[in-house]
This record gives sequence, structure tokens and C-alpha cells, in this order.
Amino acid sequence: MAAALNEFASRIRRAGVVGAGGAGFPSYVKASSKAGTVIVNGAECEPLLQKDQEILEHFTDEVLEGLRLLMRSTGASRGVLAVKEKHRKLIDKLEAAVKGEKALSVKRLGDYYPAGDEYCLVYEVTGKLIPPGGIPIQVGAVVNNVETLLNMARADKTPVTHTFLTVTGAVKKPCSLRLPLGTSMSEAVNLAGGATVKDPAAMDGGAMMGRVVTDFSQPLTKTSGGLIVLPRSHALVQRKGAGRPVDERIGKSACDQCTLCTELCPRYLLGYAIQPHKVMRGLLFSQPDRKTWSQWALLCCECQLCTLYSCPENLAPGKVCVSAKGDLAQQKVSWKTSSLNSGQAPKAHPVRPFRMTPVKRLMHRLGLDDYKADAPLRVEDYLPERVRIPLKQHVGVPARALVKAGQRVALGEILGDVPEDQLGVPVHASIVGTVTSVGDCVEITR
Ligand code: SF4
Ligand code: SF4
Repeated sequence: MAAALNEFASRIRRAGVVGAGGAGFPSYVKASSKAGTVIVNGAECEPLLQKDQEILEHFTDEVLEGLRLLMRSTGASRGVLAVKEKHRKLIDKLEAAVKGEKALSVKRLGDYYPAGDEYCLVYEVTGKLIPPGGIPIQVGAVVNNVETLLNMARADKTPVTHTFLTVTGAVKKPCSLRLPLGTSMSEAVNLAGGATVKDPAAMDGGAMMGRVVTDFSQPLTKTSGGLIVLPRSHALVQRKGAGRPVDERIGKSACDQCTLCTELCPRYLLGYAIQPHKVMRGLLFSQPDRKTWSQWALLCCECQLCTLYSCPENLAPGKVCVSAKGDLAQQKVSWKTSSLNSGQAPKAHPVRPFRMTPVKRLMHRLGLDDYKADAPLRVEDYLPERVRIPLKQHVGVPARALVKAGQRVALGEILGDVPEDQLGVPVHASIVGTVTSVGDCVEITR
């Protein structure tokens, strides 16, 4: 695969650049495609997170350089920075920075959730709807997170050794930080002044799409974007932490088919064939009927709006959709093979502009109003005594370790790599030190 890469794509592959805002898709793949528009995803619609705004504010020139490099690599004639309108000062700064460059512009987004979903973002910026089950490049767009572009700009000098994240919620000093990969979550929380509650849990990645973490010894990775610390008894932690049997048992008996989960679903409002209330109805059936009803989940983006906001009964249609997608994948049912796939192009629902979910109301519904706080970037360098760097931090195959216990490593040295014909990127040392163990993670001690 890498043999056909252009010089820029090869460089960002060597530097280990992956999508910092999502599952960690290796960025060289996007950089090798041909596109008309590159979109900088600065929507940051997860409540309380702030690190993307901080990166845009502090490293404007480098993010713009990353954007230009990616435009050149993909042949794109248009570069758009998509940022929420509420960040007025930041927008002024960005507009001043791109002034005179006809190819670059700033798109002001409303303060809605999930403004950063690729399907929503591409529609807002280009007016085009991605084909059902497809990806942005099918309508000539490439979408990249702010931090990813910063890492692309730096790739000729330094590989990805650090990650940016916001640490907020029940902590003494909410802040955004830049930390070496493999630093523990507990150190990140301590740097934010420590938890203010006795029995904390955290949402790793955000209140909506993040996962619940109670083991704070886990390492930060290239895709870590935020830790929202909350008391373990907080309703959000409880609801997100409930398992599939609980969600399905309660959903089966309590769903009254009011359809609100569907009416407010961002993908449904864009005109896609997704109807979570029908997936909930399917819980009442056994196979193969359930399989048929579950297909209404295939185009779900897993934003969890229906679970954490729309459903008046506090049920979990979004989680049920995620499980249904997993089951269908095992049965080899995809959108391509789905009986719902009529081949028709989607058309945005005329009521969409009036049904988008304001983040302010979402925060209230999530019980996060008490945790609203500025989380500015603290630029000091933190050097942990020990890091544990996972060999798999990206979509694709895990990196294979190239170091052994007892070996000294330099900052940025390759710890593991992926064969060039397979999807993946190398991982690098984030501190200078001695390798103390090698397994799923490489542990380095100073
Ligand atoms: S909103 Fe809740 S109660 Fe209404 S159909 Fe959806 S899951 Fe059922
Ligand atoms: S999680 Fe719910 S609201 Fe979000 S896309 Fe899926 S079905 Fe729609």
C-alpha cells in the first residue's frame, strides 16, 4: 500500500500520524486520495471539551500549514476551517490569518450536537450528502481534525509523541494539556489539580461518545481528546455504564414507540434510512425478524443523542443500535447488502434546521451545568517517570515491536512498525529512557 504513496503521505506515515479526533484512522490514506475540498473539523461539539479551540488559538500557523500541505497532496482547491460561531474571537483570528488566500475560508457552525459528525459537517460545508454508508471522499471532501493537521505540519521534524486533551468536570483546575503518549490518566487528572470527588469515574473522549473509565492507570494514546471526571454515582456514568442485557431488557418492556429518538436523530434529519425506534421495536422479536428490524440501525453514527437526550423514558436506543450493528456485521449484513438499500440518494428533511439539538440544552439534560468551566491550554512540558505506549493506537493492524527490554531509546525513536503493505503506522518513544517491558504496550522508564 505504502509503495504508491506520495512524498507527503509517506512522511506522515513515517511520523505515525492518525486521526486524532476519532478512531485513529491512518492519515496517509486520506492524504493519498484526490479531493476538491479539505475540511478542518474544529466543531468540537462534545460538551466541556476545549482542546481543539486551544490548538487553533495557540498554533494557528501550523494548523494552516498542515491544511495547505494536505490540500497540495490531495489536489484540493478549497480549504475550509469549520468552527462554531460562538467562538467569535477565534473566528476573527482565523479569518485574519486566511485573508488574501482565496482558497481558504472559515465556515461558522451553529452550536449544535453533533456538528462534528462527518456527514453533518460535509453537508454544512459543501451542501452535499455523502452516499449512505459511504465516506466524505465520495463527494470530493476530506475531513481532518485540528490536532491531526498540526501533527501533519510537524511531521517533517518530529513524529507523533504527544497528545492534547482537556481534563475537566470534577477536578480542581480544569485545563487542556499536551502530554507524552503513554502518560497515565491519573497523572493527567493530578495535573488538573486532582479529582474533587471521592469516588471518581471519567468519560474518556467526552460525555456523549466517550467510554466510562474507572481504572485511571490506563495510558493516554494518540486519540485521547478529553477526560471528563464525574462522581461514579452521577446519572451519566450510570447510564453509560449499563450493559447490553440491562439496556435491552428495559428497552423491550418500556419503549412506548413515541418515535422521538428517530425524530431528533441527526442522520434521520439528513434524510438517511435510520430509525432507532424501529430497532427498539425489533427487541420484541426473535431472529430472523429482529435481523430485519435491526437494519434500521446500519447508518447510525453512534452519537448517542437518542440515548442521552431524546428519549423521554431514559432508554438507550443508541446503544441498542450499536449492538444491532455489531450483530449485523457478524451476519455479514452491510448497507450494501441491506434490504433497506433502495439505491436512492438521501434528501435532507425540511424540518432539520428547527430540530437540531442545542449544546446548551444537551448540557442541562446531561446534568453537566455545574461543571461548565474554562479549560485553557497549559503549555508547560510534563515529563512522566514512566510511560506505557500501546502498539495499537490506530485502525488497522497493531505495530510489531522493534525494541527489547533493557534497550535505551531516544525521544521519537521507533518502538514498533507495521509492514508497508498493511494498514497502520509506526509508534514512537514519547520520552527518553529504558524499555522495561514489551507486550501490548512498550513500557519506558526514565
Ligand atoms: S424515544 Fe425512547 S420511548 Fe420513544 S421510541 Fe425511542 S426508545 Fe422508545
Ligand atoms: S446514536 Fe441515535 S441519534 Fe445518533 S445516529 Fe444513532 S440512532 Fe441517530
